[in-house]
Amino acid sequence: MKYQLVSGLETHVELATATKIFCGCTTAFGGAPNTHCCPVCTGQPGALPILNKRVVEFAIRAGLATHCTINTTTHLDRKNYCYPDLPKAYQISQFDKPLCEHGYVELESGKKIGITRIHIEEDAGKLVHESGFTFIDYNRGGVPLIEIVSEPDISSPEEAREYVEKLQLIMRYIGVSDCKMQEGSMRCDVNISLMPVGSEKFGTRTEIKNMNSLSYIEKAMAYEYSRQAEILDNGGEIVQATMRFDEHTGETSVMRTKEDAQDYRYFPEPDILTVVIPEEKVEEIRASLPELPTDKLKRYINDLGINPANAQLLYKYKAVCDFVEKAISLGAGVKNTVNLTVGTLYSKLETEDDKERFSLPVTAEEIAKLVKYADEGKINITLAQKTLAKMAEEGKPVSAYISESDLAGVDDGELEELCKKALESNPQAVADFKAGKEKAIFALYGYIKKATQGKADIKKADAVLRQLIK
Ligand code: ADP
Ligand code: MG
Ligand code: ZN
Repeated sequence: MKYQLVSGLETHVELATATKIFCGCTTAFGGAPNTHCCPVCTGQPGALPILNKRVVEFAIRAGLATHCTINTTTHLDRKNYCYPDLPKAYQISQFDKPLCEHGYVELESGKKIGITRIHIEEDAGKLVHESGFTFIDYNRGGVPLIEIVSEPDISSPEEAREYVEKLQLIMRYIGVSDCKMQEGSMRCDVNISLMPVGSEKFGTRTEIKNMNSLSYIEKAMAYEYSRQAEILDNGGEIVQATMRFDEHTGETSVMRTKEDAQDYRYFPEPDILTVVIPEEKVEEIRASLPELPTDKLKRYINDLGINPANAQLLYKYKAVCDFVEKAISLGAGVKNTVNLTVGTLYSKLETEDDKERFSLPVTAEEIAKLVKYADEGKINITLAQKTLAKMAEEGKPVSAYISESDLAGVDDGELEELCKKALESNPQAVADFKAGKEKAIFALYGYIKKATQGKADIKKADAVLRQLIK
């Protein structure tokens, strides 16, 4: 039988606040074990939590950017479970009144994946299993998280990937998290069930815990789909369970059969007051949101006329976008700015990280100058590319490479003389061109480029050449 995949994701995103959710300890990644800790985040008797205001603000930002409603009166809850990574034996989270609800994330196709809720909570410590011992590092304990729960609207591994990528982009754009899956600042629990195609009734789901890479999410979902399909095909029943994905075998296996919410004995956290957020605060945060990725992509294509392939290459990296947009606002032409960025600068920004940070020593002001020279035909594109490559390597301004005399370019009279000479010294190319060999004109370009050391505007030269040959 053919089955429809149904999936909803629970995504944990570590918030980029400087300090932890209930104490002043640093949230910096790494550090010697148990050095980013205090009595509060290690659950010592008598230590009391104080809610970090920034955490609430960041979570509201995330909620507004995903079109959620904000519950301006909310509270925290205790989720009780005993495990060594949680020294208090409970996690402070939110249960019945999450900070944000009823939002969505839009996919490229226009399909909206519903966001059920976004709540705030504290991260647990990290267990390290080594040579028969288990070590505990509480540095991560108390780091603020938001958990973003999606509706079961996802219908394929590809959609799951796109949804996570979109979330990642949004969170990075609004500056609430770097969402580095490999460092654990974004992790997903993937819920999956199958139902016969055309059915309305969801099947029993399993939940694959703690996925930390996009490709693993896709692989795990594909594997889990076939595992469940095989059971159903054989007349079996799916047992609701929490699964783990083995990166080496590419298989999922059962960790534990599913616990229910009631097992956690949730109750309102007595050490933290009800959180009341003034309406004005929410509006202030809404007003401070930057343009969101999907809107930017649409604007790049529809308003700026950037071709869709290049727009896709740019819009994912906020720092690159800021750079390009600034150059354009300084008068640089869109087309040359985009082509030079994607063509020349991207070869120096190899990794995603490089692009996100955009750490090249080229300023928007300097690329704008260069692009304007190219726009005005004072230098040709090849020279612009070469110059930009050097600027990116050496960090010097345009003026270090292009002098006044270079910019003088080749005036029209001079160009016409050169074109004539080009024809005289290349009779074969002229004959070939006249005989219909379009490409023969390249030999004439070559002559002009060489004679002017790349300064001549080849587009102009082309027109003159054609005129002369006629
Ligand atoms: P919990 O896992 O904490 O018990 P929920 O029951 O609210 O929480 O569901 C968590 C996630 O599972 C949500 O993202 C939801 O969309 C998804 N989900 C719920 N039912 C199904 C189902 N039948 N198939 C696939 N995903 C589901
Ligand atoms: Mg769950
Ligand atoms: Zn602490």
